[in-house]
Order: sequence, then C-alpha cells, then structure tokens
Amino acid sequence: MLFLCASDLHGFAPGAPGFGATPDALLLLGDLEWSAGRLVGMFPDIPVFGVPGNHDYSVDPFCGTPVENLHGRAVEFGGVRIGGLGGSLRYKPGDDFLFWDAEYREILRKMPPVDIFISHCPPAGLPWCDTPSEEAPWHGAHEGSAALAEYIYRMQPAVVLCGHLHLSAGKRMGKTLVRVVYGVEMFEYSCGLERVFQHKGGLSRADWASQPGPATGRAD
Ligand SMILES: [Zn+2]
Repeated sequence: MLFLCASDLHGFAPGAPGFGATPDALLLLGDLEWSAGRLVGMFPDIPVFGVPGNHDYSVDPFCGTPVENLHGRAVEFGGVRIGGLGGSLRYKPGDDFLFWDAEYREILRKMPPVDIFISHCPPAGLPWCDTPSEEAPWHGAHEGSAALAEYIYRMQPAVVLCGHLHLSAGKRMGKTLVRVVYGVEMFEYSCGLERVFQHKGGLSRADWASQPGPATGRAD
C-alpha cells in the first residue's frame, strides 16, 4: 500500500508530485496550512488522514479541506491500523494545539496498538530535538514527547511518521522506525507476515514547491 505523507509545508505552494505513482492514501502530519487543500486537490479520490500541527488554526485545522482527523484516535484502512497525535508540546501560552506531556500521556493511554502512527510532535530521544530544561516553565519549541516515546516502546508500531523539526531524518526506537518528514515523502507499507516499510522517495519543502504544476500561493 502506497502512502504519500506531507509535513510542515506551512502554506508553501506544492507543485506536481513527481513520484510516478498514485498513492492509496494521504497522511498529513500537520502545519500544512493552505498546502493541505492543494495536496488533496491533486489526489481528489483517495482517503486523507491527518493530524493538526501547532500552527494550524484551532477552528479549521485543515483550511476547509476534508481530512479525517486522527488526533487521539485510530482507524483501520485496508488492513492497516493508523493512529495519530496532533499539535506539539506547550512552549508558550495560548493556541489550541499545544499540550503538556501529561496531557499527551493521557491521550496515548487510550491509544490502541497500530501499524502506522502519525504525529506532528516527535518523540523524545531523537538527537534533533531540543533538550528539556529543568528550570524553564515551558517545554522547548522543538522538544520531543516522552509520553510518545513511552507509547512507542510499549506498543511498537512499525513506523512513526512525525514532523515539526523542519528536517528529514530517521532513527530506530526498538522495533519502530521513527521517520521525521519535512516536505513530502512517498512510502510503501505491507503488513503481511512481516511489517515492511519502504521509502520510495521524498522532496524537501523547497524542492516540492519548485516542481512544475499548479503552484501558486504563499512562498514563505
Ligand atoms: Zn510544528
């Protein structure tokens, strides 16, 4: 099963996808803003699952685009269980999609085991995350969630796709591959006797925006 996932496009105008195949579903990892509608417009007939990012609007996190919001819940799609977590750790006052880690822990306590977990916030334990401070009243802006790391080691999803860090990288946490996405990435997932995750290519946010296609809109 082919998935196209996207994260942190922040309204950047995407061009043509250029992966040579139509995905079976889209996975939106948050902070897409107006880019969500452009992506979904390119693949109008496939299911779209997503979580809001910390910068998405609280009332309408996907800017009017029909997206099945997986924040705090899981679904089954073609035999693949997909769960999700939106927002990021609370690094400032205000905003609906900021959470204390204890709030994340409470949400994840009820999360069933899944094959693919999509989260805007990364788990703690990645070398690219901010180091937690004992003194500061807020989390670091790019701090990883200890509650999500606990969920990963407890439930061992095949893959965790996350964003927020504005970089593309991967790391194993136990049996789970944690993939940080910045831009768009296509991957194939098979959940037969062995759960296999295969990366099929990716484009950084800047590369994606420079692809030929109906690209208009914000360029920041
Ligand atoms: Zn973010």
